[in-house]
Amino acid sequence: MPSVHALGEVALIDRLTRRLGVVRRGRGVQIGIGDDAAVLRGSGRQLLLFASDMIVDGVHFRRETVPARWIGWKALAANVSDIAAMGGRPLAAVVSLGVPPATTARFLEDLYGGIARCAKRFRLSVIGGDTVRAPRVVVDVAILGTVKRRHLTLRSGARVGDRLFVTGRLGGSLKSGRHARFMPRVREAQALVRRVKVHAMMDLSDGLASDLWQMSRASRVVLRIRRTAVPVARAAGSIEHALMDGEDFELLFAVSRRDAARVPGRIGSCPVTRIGAAVARGVAVEQEGPNGRIRPLIPTGFKHF
Ligand SMILES: [Mg+2]
Repeated sequence: MPSVHALGEVALIDRLTRRLGVVRRGRGVQIGIGDDAAVLRGSGRQLLLFASDMIVDGVHFRRETVPARWIGWKALAANVSDIAAMGGRPLAAVVSLGVPPATTARFLEDLYGGIARCAKRFRLSVIGGDTVRAPRVVVDVAILGTVKRRHLTLRSGARVGDRLFVTGRLGGSLKSGRHARFMPRVREAQALVRRVKVHAMMDLSDGLASDLWQMSRASRVVLRIRRTAVPVARAAGSIEHALMDGEDFELLFAVSRRDAARVPGRIGSCPVTRIGAAVARGVAVEQEGPNGRIRPLIPTGFKHF
């Protein structure tokens, strides 16, 4: 049997999903594994969204360099970002905490201060969780959200001819501290789904190149971006970093060519940039260089295992 390192995240999830068999899709499940959040039947025109995201000391942050309140913020905000990416609004979360016994109460209170600040900002409740002893700090959040049926945006809805956009500027999130102090794009996503028919949307967590592949695989369309169009964050320094760095927590979305003209250039203070299009059926991601040459875009970004 291969190790999880040898398999990589995509193949691992594939194997585990298969092992679940029929329990993936029981009563009330509209969309199961494979998107930013699962979709459950709600009441009337509302659907329920259900997601979780865990962060671990030494993997997603370093306790020595990130203040406790920003660790708390990040843990909840990453979950809020997944709800935003589905076109929804966060409703409630539970927080489970693993901590070494020598951890000070002060550290944990500060961490919860960050959780509380994020919850207040995005108007959700924190309604439970668990605390256990662990060799290092782990914050695991599960979140519920709601979405109007007509606003639901999956990764799998991109069609040939669609235009691709991203919010914000990409890359350098670790260097700038933005990997923890980011603003989940709930407002921006809401503005978009109200204004245009968003065919597909997801949040950027593993790096644009890698996340484009996820959307390509889910939608079965070839995505092509123009390298010079990608908005590069100052901290990224180079286009290569903007393509490969993870934890941007920005939105990647696809709309029809007609609707593309109605996508605003910014929403509040957040820029929205057209970066490419879905050009054919199939699974691939391509980049067009300044000279017009088209090459495959191969991710070298964040590896989960
Ligand atoms: Mg996501």
